[in-house]
Amino acid sequence: MSLLEIRCVYFTAGGKPILENLNFTLGEGEIHALIGTNGTGKSTLARLVMGCEGYHIGSGEIRFDGLSINELPIEKRAGLGITMVWQEPARFEGITVRDYLSLGKRGSDLSDCLDSVGLASGDYLDRMLDNTMSGGERKRIELASMLALKPRLCILDEPISGIDLVSVKDIVAVIRRIQQNGSSVLLISHREEIASVADRASLLCGGRIAMTGDPDTIVRDYKSRHCVICNGQICDYATH
Ligand code: ADP
Ligand code: MG
Repeated sequence: MSLLEIRCVYFTAGGKPILENLNFTLGEGEIHALIGTNGTGKSTLARLVMGCEGYHIGSGEIRFDGLSINELPIEKRAGLGITMVWQEPARFEGITVRDYLSLGKRGSDLSDCLDSVGLASGDYLDRMLDNTMSGGERKRIELASMLALKPRLCILDEPISGIDLVSVKDIVAVIRRIQQNGSSVLLISHREEIASVADRASLLCGGRIAMTGDPDTIVRDYKSRHCVICNGQICDYATH
């Protein structure tokens, strides 16, 4: 049985169809990359799985661990172990990195979690998680929180945005670590270089999954499309 199963999902926003007849599965323990150009609906899909406000599927079903979660609010989904690292990293005024990483109360070794994301724990544990930190630092701390929290499903929306090219290798290592920690990972990106860490990949095109397979094959197809921004139509390539 798949950990996450999305069946025939439709979602419309602002009178415009965003996702149409979308089918997708993610296995327990799997890293599944979801790639696709800007505007194809990747973040929308992430928010629908997380259950964010304003994101309720029009029809279809989202199942997590065999349970339909369509009607569950975000807190209930979080309680089941679904978590998300947002495209824009969060800023929490008045909370230290230590407090933030302790929120899940999983008794994880916080220093180890920080060191794993390339941040010296001695320098960061007692810092405030506020705008004195760069976007890249906040993103790393969010990734560290995934190690601390050990969620069942970790949705990473553009984990390398705001991260320089040299550091992409570090982030790939962190994603592997999250998997080794027992979490399954939905890895979302418009940048194909990240997909190599995945066990499988799917290409989102024109609001539906155009292909699923091994990451190399999917990336090759993605690059051949030369999409810059999705115009909402399935391109010719999708039918090949
Ligand atoms: P991606 O993450 O693949 O770049 P998004 O999921 O952010 O794409 O957006 C897909 C499309 O859906 C875009 O055209 C975006 O403007 C639109 N969209 C997403 N959420 C909403 C919303 N709440 N209201 C109106 N349009 C939305
Ligand atoms: Mg996005």
